[in-house]
Amino acid sequence: MAQNMPINQYMKREKEVIIIIDDQVSICDSCSQVFRKDGFQVDTATDGISGLEKVIKQRPDLVFVDLKMPGISGMEVLEEIANFDPTIVTVVITGYATIDFAVEAVKKGAFDFIPKPFIPDQLRVTTKRALERRRLLLETMSLRREKERMKENFISMVSHQLRTPLVAVQGYFEVILAGIAGDVSAEQKKMLERSKIRIDELIKLIKEWLSFARIDANSLVSELEPVDLIPLIKECLEDIQLVAEQKQIKVQLLGSDASAHVLGNKAALKQVFINLLENGIKYNKVEGSIRVSIKTENNFVNIEISDTGVGISKKDLPFIFEQFYQINKTEGSGLGLAIVKRIIDSHSGSIKVTSEPGEGTDFQIKLPQYHDDKK
Ligand code: ADP
Repeated sequence: MAQNMPINQYMKREKEVIIIIDDQVSICDSCSQVFRKDGFQVDTATDGISGLEKVIKQRPDLVFVDLKMPGISGMEVLEEIANFDPTIVTVVITGYATIDFAVEAVKKGAFDFIPKPFIPDQLRVTTKRALERRRLLLETMSLRREKERMKENFISMVSHQLRTPLVAVQGYFEVILAGIAGDVSAEQKKMLERSKIRIDELIKLIKEWLSFARIDANSLVSELEPVDLIPLIKECLEDIQLVAEQKQIKVQLLGSDASAHVLGNKAALKQVFINLLENGIKYNKVEGSIRVSIKTENNFVNIEISDTGVGISKKDLPFIFEQFYQINKTEGSGLGLAIVKRIIDSHSGSIKVTSEPGEGTDFQIKLPQYHDDKK
């Protein structure tokens, strides 16, 4: 369908193509004359079926459709054209008696209507506007494709050109620091360790950019499976344990509802909890705490992650899920919460945050509960 069409082919077409479908031969002839004179390629059909055949074969830019025809109705023809290719612009030809139908047709997607009888200049004005619309639709589609292409290029460029050499450098640092390449003085070791930390941060940043660029709702939704959230969250807690201990932060899991199942993408959901828990540590005070609770209620699983950290002010709160939003410039990417929001949205869930500056922050996630009917 339209999505797979070689758009550029249309853009490059020498003459724009117009088809007139009207059982009145005189209308077809007079319109054709005007359009040919104005330099368009024209074709006509005197019934809906043969008109549609021509539309499918020629993929015109614009189609004029009479609403009242024997055989299949003009409305049906319009519908078929829209199903075949929604970028083909349609204009309804109508007598005054059927003007209500014409309004209906416009509501359903026809671009405009032209009441019979009309003079050539009226036809020209309508045609000009309709073709402008067509050009805009094509341009929008080709821009959308260009955006997709750029996104794909960006992802592969970032992963190959930036990440690969950094990982190699990181490997060399490890070898040198381990003393495998010869003795390293205490002074050198300190510098190398600092460099390694910066490289690690950079690799993490790139990983976040990549995962943000890769996450789109469709790709996640196509890989859904039943996920038991309790073991998944326990796994996340184990992953962050070491970092939490370094800051002497106590992490507690409250409530282990056995029915906390959702239909989801396991890796993506894990990323949600890891991002929130890591923030809970990063923006917490030494010897602070994080509490995670999981409850099911009214066919939803509610997960709450609250910390005793610095909190977020009322003025910043509405923006924290935006891409690259950071309250104070940290070593992070400002993408963590944007990723979280995107993943939760693609699971038909919701996320809310409440916070008290100086007291802590509380994230509440709601996901539709999954019931295994076979059990
Ligand atoms: P970053 O990479 O900066 O952590 P995020 O998207 O994860 O990006 O978070 C955006 C901003 O929201 C952070 O810069 C931080 O200021 C604030 N923030 C996020 N989580 C918390 C939290 N648990 N406590 C306090 N502030 C937070």
